[in-house]
Amino acid sequence: MKVAIYANHRPKTRTVVNKLKHLLKNRNISVITQGRPDVVISVGGDGTILSAFHQFFPYLNHVRFVGVHTGHLGFYTDYREYEMKELVDSLSINSGETVSYPILKIEAYKKNTVHPFMVYHALNESTIRRVVSTFTCNVFIKGNFFEKFRGDGLCISTPSGSTAYNKSLGGAVIHPTVQALQLTEIASLNNSIFRTIGSPMVLSPQEWVEIHLRDPNDIYVSVDNMTMHNTGVTRIKYQISSQKIHFAKYRHMHFWDRVGNSFIYQKKSHED
Ligand code: NAP
Ligand code: MN
Repeated sequence: MKVAIYANHRPKTRTVVNKLKHLLKNRNISVITQGRPDVVISVGGDGTILSAFHQFFPYLNHVRFVGVHTGHLGFYTDYREYEMKELVDSLSINSGETVSYPILKIEAYKKNTVHPFMVYHALNESTIRRVVSTFTCNVFIKGNFFEKFRGDGLCISTPSGSTAYNKSLGGAVIHPTVQALQLTEIASLNNSIFRTIGSPMVLSPQEWVEIHLRDPNDIYVSVDNMTMHNTGVTRIKYQISSQKIHFAKYRHMHFWDRVGNSFIYQKKSHED
């Protein structure tokens, strides 16, 4: 088995990475810095997994990800920094079991073109917005006109991204294995003249969202933790990708416990 370690630059992370390398060496598990790994261990936070996902995207179908959190427990990160021995033990008895989450495919087009000039994949979400003046677009769902949107922008998130920016926008928390996309509004303009749906929408995997812009100026498109500005995009298509991200299923944590612990409080029991 070949393991790659992807880490952020925090001093605490460096200590964890050194410990991890030492434990892997003792088990004769090789750590590679080039080529295709079988397992990617991300050390840092949920944001580190996002970067690891983009870094290892060419190998997505083959790779299994494992997340180590050097801060609080995250959504993509199952292990804490003091659990490195357990992690290496699980790796060496490698069962190959995985849990897979849907990802988002993003295709951006310039005016009057049929081929996308940009194809991206997001693990959390993509947003399209304008910063200074009102963002105006037509929203199409599965090829049919749905609404004219005015406001700051729109966010399209994956199920596993539903606890990230989507949640801050009032979107629903969705179990990460559900095949669905969620469309949420960013500060829509609603009055007696302009009207949008106003609520988050959950779309089926057979559907896609297209956003048509009249004016490509000053448009920001984000994909997870990256942002592109003024690319000339006039049409963008969002759909669930045929590819998925695979996580090594070394440890099972009840998703709704994770949600409760992260957003409400450290739960003891319902009677406390
Ligand atoms: P960041 O500023 O560190 O991320 C913001 C927070 O979101 C961090 O606490 C991060 O956890 C957490 N997070 C990331 N993915 C998550 C997920 N799937 N579920 C729950 N929490 C999650 O920047 P970053 O680490 O590069 O992450 C980029 C992400 O930040 C974007 O994809 C977007 O979802 C999110 N974001 C949120 C807002 C908002 O809520 N207003 C605004 C911009 C971006 P860690 O500390 O473990 O990294
Ligand atoms: Mn972060």
